[in-house]
Amino acid sequence: MTSPLAIAVVGLGKIAHDQHLPAIDASERFELVAGASPGAKLAAVPVFENVDELLASGLAIDAVALCQPPQLRFAAAAKAIHAGKHVLLEKPPGATVGEVELLAALAERAGTTLFAAWHSRFAPGVARAQDWLAQHPVQQVAIRWQEDVRVWHGGQQWIWHPGGLGVFDAGINALSIATQLLARPLRVQSGTLQFPANCGAPIAAELFLRSAGDVPVHAIFDWRTSGEPTWVIELQTAAGNVHLSHGGARLRIAARDCSVAAAREYPDLYERFARLIELRQSEVDVAPLRLIADAFLCCAIRTIEPFDDALDAGEVGR
Ligand code: NAP
Repeated sequence: MTSPLAIAVVGLGKIAHDQHLPAIDASERFELVAGASPGAKLAAVPVFENVDELLASGLAIDAVALCQPPQLRFAAAAKAIHAGKHVLLEKPPGATVGEVELLAALAERAGTTLFAAWHSRFAPGVARAQDWLAQHPVQQVAIRWQEDVRVWHGGQQWIWHPGGLGVFDAGINALSIATQLLARPLRVQSGTLQFPANCGAPIAAELFLRSAGDVPVHAIFDWRTSGEPTWVIELQTAAGNVHLSHGGARLRIAARDCSVAAAREYPDLYERFARLIELRQSEVDVAPLRLIADAFLCCAIRTIEPFDDALDAGEVGR
């Protein structure tokens, strides 16, 4: 067996601790050798203040996983690619479509792997739903992605700043699944974004989209929902509905529960990253991010009452 790839995790916040570090720990393909994050420590490996110090440290590193807020992703990724590292980008892969496309070009020129990781596409119900839908054309789609932002994003200020995407930070997961399941490209037709008066990003949104095959998609995203979150995509077909819930972890087809494997989104995501490195390929699908960008371009904007938990309006530095 080949020796594991030395990897560093940049941005040691919630998702790094909840998913990336355990997935790397369990992987035979990667070995954690360092971290970079301004306020974090890890017991087993050195943690640098930022990606510049990490890259200047002289540590032998093959790859980095970038898990800091999306507004900070581009500069770090460009430096890592320039230093010849393979790069995994947490979702969303950047703050703009243009910067992600530029990173893809930089990685191609440098001969490194760039992986824009859409973790929800690895949810266990998604592949099975996709197999079934290959035989049953979708007629229409309804997305409901509703949760309590105070529970799921408590204390995170970057989500409220431009580039943080607001409610689309979660909603882009639904669109990553929908773009995977619908064989034809999607476009945004219209919608409404609700911005609290003290926020640079929306707390709720309603979108009307349509696929190139003329399938209508209606999506509701809301961060003001208390209680259990609703992360549901319902795809109507002539043979019955495909009902993906719990973010893709549960699947019902034509009103019957389907057995799906246990969730292992992040272990599978790291397997994919290792495979891409082995094949010397990149995988950078900007479709979900482009839909959000288009929503900011063409939807009506409503300013609503300020949101109490988003009062710290400091800059998210780049
Ligand atoms: P978070 O808890 O706020 O963590 C982000 C971390 O980035 C912070 O802990 C901060 O580290 C670090 N950071 C800030 N500036 C940095 C810099 N200049 N260099 C390196 N690190 C820096 O956010 P999160 O929830 O983990 O989300 C991060 C990304 O993962 C987002 O794109 C999000 O969409 C995605 N994601 C999140 C989840 C989730 O469930 N939370 C799920 C999937 C994907 P310090 O604490 O050291 O200051």
